Amino acid sequence: MKRVFSSHNTVLAHHARNLLEAEGVGTELRNLMLSSAMGELPPAECQAEVWVDEKDVARAEEILRRPPESGPDWLCSSCGEMSGAQFHQCWKCEAYR
Ligand SMILES: [Zn+2]
Repeated sequence: MKRVFSSHNTVLAHHARNLLEAEGVGTELRNLMLSSAMGELPPAECQAEVWVDEKDVARAEEILRRPPESGPDWLCSSCGEMSGAQFHQCWKCEAYR
């Protein structure tokens, strides 16, 4: 396993995972609970992380670096939040587009 994404923002970590899973890349989220311990642990150890199998690393990095798809943002019909065109799920409530 190798880490391909990390962020203090667990929403972004979930977002990265969703992008990868949508492309068929299996992921593992780590440290989600630690981020709530900010202030007690060194910041670098509190980042939510997305890990993938070694065989999927190159593909995962390509997916995460890919520029946003062109097209309008879309409105979640479930919670009313706007999400970018590249996302297939609402960042807030995880409803599918
Ligand atoms: Zn939503």
